[in-house]
Amino acid sequence: MAVITFVSQLAHQEQDAWLALLSTKLPNEAIKLDKDLSVEQKLQCEIAIVANPDADILSQYPKLIWVQSLWAGVDALVSQLSDNKPTPSFKLVRLIDPILAQTMSEAVLTWVLYLHRDMPKYLQQQKSAQWLQHRYLLPQERTLGILGLGELGKLSALRLYENGFNVLGWSQSDKLINGITCYSGDEGLVTMVRQTDILICLLPLTSATYQLINEDLLTNLPQGASIINFARGGIVANHDLINHLANGNLEHAILDVFEQEPLDKSDDLWSNEKITVLPHISAPTHFESAGEIVTNNIKQYRSNDQIPFYIDWNKGY
Ligand code: NAP
Repeated sequence: MAVITFVSQLAHQEQDAWLALLSTKLPNEAIKLDKDLSVEQKLQCEIAIVANPDADILSQYPKLIWVQSLWAGVDALVSQLSDNKPTPSFKLVRLIDPILAQTMSEAVLTWVLYLHRDMPKYLQQQKSAQWLQHRYLLPQERTLGILGLGELGKLSALRLYENGFNVLGWSQSDKLINGITCYSGDEGLVTMVRQTDILICLLPLTSATYQLINEDLLTNLPQGASIINFARGGIVANHDLINHLANGNLEHAILDVFEQEPLDKSDDLWSNEKITVLPHISAPTHFESAGEIVTNNIKQYRSNDQIPFYIDWNKGY
């Protein structure tokens, strides 16, 4: 059986831990670091497992059939592989993990409750010993709009609905999800955003979603709305966001993702009192669970030649 290559730019310790886990779960496979493969082995290799790889390395593998990512977000790899280049001949499979979706929905619920119960205002008030009670709204009086109803967005929408919120969602294709009012298309976006008190972004970063949260979209949000971006930094036009926070149209923004990560120490976002900066922690890959899913994908493929759900190079996700 041909060798499976492991291509990553992870720190050595992390890389070794993944390799040990995957090899234990796949005792009948030979999984080796890219750097340890001979030219002949590279020419024969059909499967790659990747984590933040140097995309150019994959071009050394002419017989690759599919590439399994250990991460759920593969936008950077997709753009390195396909921007201004011929479509790759192999399929790219991202991590789809129900545990990750649970973790993301927990983060979404946590930060929605933080905004719903006016935590940013009370935090500011404490700094000046200000005793001021804001009007309490019931969850059903708060409308939440979710951009993206995929693996992470759908479960998050349902979790918010279970907690009593009025939940709307927007996706590329039309959807029917019990309890959630679903929209699609440009008009659907405007209709949803106009009703939204807290906008939650769980879209993939593609050429269609790059800076989607911009002046036009922000203008359509009701006065005093807030934003949560747990998807990718490039989806938000930061300059427009900062203006809308400064002029009071927007109340608060919670940002977990940035175009440049880590966020530069000198970036003004850190000190903006209307922005909560998080260091990309809303849904980290769960080592054991991801290992289980990735190795099951490979076992399935060996038994029936079926490649798991893969990225559509045209759509970019
Ligand atoms: P997914 O399963 O691919 O779902 C994407 C959703 O967005 C789908 O509902 C899709 O619509 C919709 N969509 C895509 N392009 C669209 C467009 N142009 N217009 C309208 N809707 C569009 O993605 P996911 O696994 O849920 O991941 C969501 C995001 O979370 C990604 O950006 C990922 O990188 C990020 N992420 C962040 C963290 C973190 O820790 N911060 C961790 C993991 C993932 P259809 O359903 O109609 O296709």
